[in-house]
Amino acid sequence: MGKLNVVVLRYLSRDDFRVLTAVEMGMKNHEIVPVSLLSSIASLKHGGCNKILRELVKHKLVVYERTKTVQGYRLNYGGYDYLALKTLCSREVIISVGNQMGVGKESDIYIVASPSGEQYVLKLHRLGRTSFRNLKNKRDYHKHRKNMSWLYLSRLSATKEFAYMKALYDRGFPVPKPVDYNRHAVVMELINGYPLCQVRELQDPPALYNELMELIVKLADHGLIHGDFNEFNLMLDDQDRATMIDFPQMVSTSHPNAEWYFDRDVKCIRDFFTKRFSYESELFPTFRDIRRSYSVDVEVSASGFTKDLERDSALLHPAGPEEDDEEECSDGEAADEEVQIEDESVDMEEYKHAILELEGLSVSDTHADTQDEGEAMNENGGEKKETGAAPTATTSGDPETGSEEEFKQAEDECPELADLSASNKGFKPFRDSDSLLHMAEHGRRRTDSEATAGSVGSCSTIPPEVVRQKVRRQLTKQQKAAQRRRLQKGEANLVTKSKRENLNNIKSSMESAHFWG
Ligand code: ADP
Ligand code: MG
Repeated sequence: MGKLNVVVLRYLSRDDFRVLTAVEMGMKNHEIVPVSLLSSIASLKHGGCNKILRELVKHKLVVYERTKTVQGYRLNYGGYDYLALKTLCSREVIISVGNQMGVGKESDIYIVASPSGEQYVLKLHRLGRTSFRNLKNKRDYHKHRKNMSWLYLSRLSATKEFAYMKALYDRGFPVPKPVDYNRHAVVMELINGYPLCQVRELQDPPALYNELMELIVKLADHGLIHGDFNEFNLMLDDQDRATMIDFPQMVSTSHPNAEWYFDRDVKCIRDFFTKRFSYESELFPTFRDIRRSYSVDVEVSASGFTKDLERDSALLHPAGPEEDDEEECSDGEAADEEVQIEDESVDMEEYKHAILELEGLSVSDTHADTQDEGEAMNENGGEKKETGAAPTATTSGDPETGSEEEFKQAEDECPELADLSASNKGFKPFRDSDSLLHMAEHGRRRTDSEATAGSVGSCSTIPPEVVRQKVRRQLTKQQKAAQRRRLQKGEANLVTKSKRENLNNIKSSMESAHFWG
């Protein structure tokens, strides 16, 4: 878990990601998706599907599994990363992925670049088995959701994080500027600073203490409690100004345990200041000090979240005071879970949409706000919003199948995947453009980062400014070329065109690879 394989972005063919997306779709109702279902979703011949699946397994995007009753495939984080990155790439939100900056509690953090050369942070949410175990205690939510999966939870986490970050940013809170999100991935402003946990000395501890306490109160006045307000989730710049990060667990001040959560956030800061800066203050806010003047909690729920998502968002709340006495659920209720019937239906419209997005063919300016609302919620078995179509997956709504030859790609070209996160770990500092790696440019990159990991500063003969300039120029050129191509041709050629664009990007990335060579 936790590896990010940018490499495959270049090598997967259209059929490959059709099948990959089919696995994702199938996983809404199945833990292991049978090949028969996959081939009918992807509308490929049975044998063709098997061959592609073997490739996907080789590249660690899906896993083959066999139990007593069922055999088939399931998506893993490699495949999910791929789908999210490819989509963000197609939306032209990001163009390259750089070094891993950190590993959070439940995330992997990468530095990425946009086509215009800006650097962002990419947070890949990774809710795994640990959180799963905690969640199973919450019977209310687990009920009817046998297949509540890491896939769904990670997407839920990212969706919630983006929604709150946006709401807070729009209201002037010191949070990173949200850029976009897809599936379990959030793209946001890169904060130039250090996590408070790494800071040993402060210019003015009382001033920062006050600033943080005021922030907690201001949040609560807006109806919100951070829920994990501590030295790991606060970034400090050169002037000791704080930026707050990490929002999936935010809680409303109307929550039954709100006071407890609130006090815990306050206590975290008090304890940290005592321990690290030997600063203790008699003054600290209490829940009664709150003068609620806005209801961002309600607004976010009402706007960004669909009903299911909003309800399930409680799954992400931090552990509460009563966490240990959870077993109040009766046997009868537990039995309900067993009789749940698996809903076999697959929403082909949604599938089609996902494919188009991967290809960069569905253009939507409002994607950041709305795109995922519909699709983000159905990964919990049987809770689908029916569109009226497609009972048991059919081959009927064939999503614009392209001609075989056109999309045949050299599957054999696929090299071993680069273990980017491992090779990047040795890298610091991580915030230089010269550490950025083009998604479409694998071969060199791997050797480069490996080489550099061994000797930090191997790029030091080229001044960072020059590298940055070159990268920027290169990126602008690519962008303009892409735009020109887009304007030149009509709808009919969209697919061929996007393929050509890809090739072009790969080519120019290969040229630009000299910067890192
Ligand atoms: P988790 O939910 O897994 O704890 P966080 O959002 O707290 O993930 O991020 C983990 C770490 O990554 C942070 O402690 C911080 O060092 C770094 N980080 C996260 N977001 C940003 C950002 N926008 N700018 C700079 N660093 C960040
Ligand atoms: Mg954190």
